[in-house]
Amino acid sequence: MDTVAAAISGNPYFSAGFGLLGVGAGLAVLRQGARRGADLLRRQLLVSMEIPSHDKSYQWVLGWLSRRGAEAIRAAGAGAPGGGDASWARRRLMAALTPRHVAVQTSYKQHDNGSVSTDFTMVPGQGKHVIMYGRALLQVERQRNAKMLDIQSATPFETVTLTTLSRDRAVFSRILAEARAMALAQNEGRTVLYTSFGPEWRPLGLPRKRRLLRSVVLDRGVSEAIVADVREFIANGQWYDDRGIPYRRGYLLHGPPGSGKTSFIQALAGELGYNICILNLSERGLTDDRLGHLLTVAPERSLLLLEDVDAAFGRARQLSDQGGFQQSMVTFSGLLNALDGVASSDERIIFMTTNHLDRLDPALVRPGRVDVKVLLANASPHQIRTMFVRFYGADHADLARRFADALRGCSVSTAQLQGHFVVHKKDAQCALDNVGALLAEK
Ligand code: ADP
Repeated sequence: MDTVAAAISGNPYFSAGFGLLGVGAGLAVLRQGARRGADLLRRQLLVSMEIPSHDKSYQWVLGWLSRRGAEAIRAAGAGAPGGGDASWARRRLMAALTPRHVAVQTSYKQHDNGSVSTDFTMVPGQGKHVIMYGRALLQVERQRNAKMLDIQSATPFETVTLTTLSRDRAVFSRILAEARAMALAQNEGRTVLYTSFGPEWRPLGLPRKRRLLRSVVLDRGVSEAIVADVREFIANGQWYDDRGIPYRRGYLLHGPPGSGKTSFIQALAGELGYNICILNLSERGLTDDRLGHLLTVAPERSLLLLEDVDAAFGRARQLSDQGGFQQSMVTFSGLLNALDGVASSDERIIFMTTNHLDRLDPALVRPGRVDVKVLLANASPHQIRTMFVRFYGADHADLARRFADALRGCSVSTAQLQGHFVVHKKDAQCALDNVGALLAEK
């Protein structure tokens, strides 16, 4: 044994090999140590905030980042290096840190008159970006996990992670507050229309300018009565709560097409500072479960609008079902359950519209599901006069009266009247002279 050990230790190749092995192992330990040290340091020195795409603040923060990017570019363009301007260097730094890789978000909006406009927003693209916020340096990382789908929206799961030095951690709450305030300010004075996207609500296009209540001319006192009823409901949450009554109220606006049902609901939302969640019951792929879920998760301060409720369960629906088209899978009992199921203490204001009250099942319009039923009929003489004056001015009150007299006993919708006034927009007398055209339309 001794001889073997002596032979090995005496062999220069063996000792060199052990030496190398020792160095290698030492290096590996060092490397691991350095990595652990760096990890530890990172944990101690840096803090991160991760915002997943399904969180409400995700879009706010993206919007905030894009606004900051745009400001940094503007700031870099302004000012010159002369005069030892210290903020110039800072602006250059901000510009240098501005994300170079941006993604485009396009919003699409259809106006009431049918025209379409689009708007582009630049948001930071996938990858890492560095920005300055006050005195804090922030790393922004936007990641998409193509393998993971957000089951709510069936879109790839995304996150934005903000990282900064531990001592600056307070900036996160400031950024979130700023991003929220910015998003809300953008919607101030506007109505956001939401539509269903899978089991969630998503804004449809850009927020629209509020429609003024007085721009929708209803018969005497109708508008005021509905507004008063909704306001009273909104103010009495505690009353419902104390009595254990579901805090919901259903309204049904019925009447011929073009009588202002949808326009009035839009104007009402504007008046109350609410948004609108529009749901089409005939929508392809809508199921009872999804409907029930959507009604419970509607955003706060919004009016739920179920348009043309008769179409979803009327004859047209039956025919297309027989024809084998895959239509909405909402059943009538599913709709009733969804309406009744909104039993939470969250406020729910549900508006339904129909052109055919007689086609609705009495079960749908019973109190508790529909608490207020309002007929918006064809234009009454009062509406005709009011609309005429609104278009041509108060000094044409006499023409307005003659115009209304000429239409007495005729069924003309307010939408038709609007069309007529638009054709003769410059000349009130001409609108009166051509009143026959309105009757010929029938
Ligand atoms: P409905 O929902 O009853 O079918 P809409 O609200 O969609 O009717 O109205 C269609 C068009 O006619 C809109 O451009 C709207 O501005 C106009 N309109 C209809 N009724 C009125 C009304 N009572 N006052 C002002 N505009 C109206």
